[in-house]
Amino acid sequence: MRKTYNFSAGPAVLPEEVLLQAREEMLDWQGSGISVMEMSHRGKEFTSIINNAEATLRELANIPAHYKVVFLQGGASSQFAMVPMNLLGKNTQADYVYTGSWSKKAANEASHYCLTHTAASSENDGFHSAPPLEQWHVSPDAAYVHYTTNETIGGVEFQWTPDLSKTSGNHGEIPLVADMSSNFLSRPFDVEKFGLIYAGAQKNVGPAGLVVTIIREDLLGMAPLAQTPTMFRYKTYADHGSMYNTPPTYAIYIMGLVMAWLKKQGGLAAVEQRNIAKAQLIYDVIDASDFYHNPVNLPDRSRMNIPFTLSDASLDEVFLKQAKENGLIQLKGHRSVGGMRASIYNAMPLEGVQTLATFMQEFEKKHA
Ligand code: PMP
Repeated sequence: MRKTYNFSAGPAVLPEEVLLQAREEMLDWQGSGISVMEMSHRGKEFTSIINNAEATLRELANIPAHYKVVFLQGGASSQFAMVPMNLLGKNTQADYVYTGSWSKKAANEASHYCLTHTAASSENDGFHSAPPLEQWHVSPDAAYVHYTTNETIGGVEFQWTPDLSKTSGNHGEIPLVADMSSNFLSRPFDVEKFGLIYAGAQKNVGPAGLVVTIIREDLLGMAPLAQTPTMFRYKTYADHGSMYNTPPTYAIYIMGLVMAWLKKQGGLAAVEQRNIAKAQLIYDVIDASDFYHNPVNLPDRSRMNIPFTLSDASLDEVFLKQAKENGLIQLKGHRSVGGMRASIYNAMPLEGVQTLATFMQEFEKKHA
């Protein structure tokens, strides 16, 4: 058992069982005599690793056959460019829903490739909510509509999946694109509602750098060949089972272990129930006090990232120091918002969240 609970927003806590298995297999993967890091990516051992990782993900997320799963590198940020590069086709415009730092970065990057139109925004309320579908104004010429399912810094999560056919103008044919980096696999989701989903691995999947992208088959192959490097085309990955070049083999191996762990936990529906209970523990402490504050519109609060401030910011350093002495680490809020942030991804055990909740209550008693 480890002595700390790591509340980092990412790279984040991984299941202890996964790390123990990786340690166990470090020098000799299942009798092969070598480490996964040393294997040929085209050998039968690694082929079984990548195939199992994908198959378990497909099973967990119920991914239909007409969607490809591809393993990419460059972090989720690389997708901010790859999405417009690959999905614009003949269109010159894409729509973005603006809910905070990450959706802004995605839209800014896309603006180098096309006109970007803000379909909806929560700027008016300081990015503390998820704009309801009635407020979405999708342009008929949009190649796709992009949104961020969970804003990791602001702690705002969409608890619903937008149905573009229900927006004024009925834009049901326009593909919905989601950056699911920070709530991927934390709850069930209906893949068929999306054209493309991407997620950086370092929160709920595995080591940083790896990105998992799920893309509907008919959206492959639209990238103009002359302007799009081979490694930036989704089709390259889809056509070669993510092995056009050497993939991030060790990261994919760890991902496979995390997928198997998720399955053992009972799958996404079971994990979601645990995530709801974990988040509730912290929000209950916040809501029962005037000492802690979370600014997010109640129904849009994130289950994954809980930002909160202390009523007296001069206590921030003391809070962080004493939390650390209690084994609760990486609670400092993002530099752009200050305060604290507790990131409680799938792999954060309930005991970790309980320990934090109790620490918060005791800290308040001493300092309020
Ligand atoms: N999107 C979201 C929602 C994120 O939280 C992050 C990273 N925290 C990114 C994109 C960027 O990911 P990366 O650092 O892997 O490029």
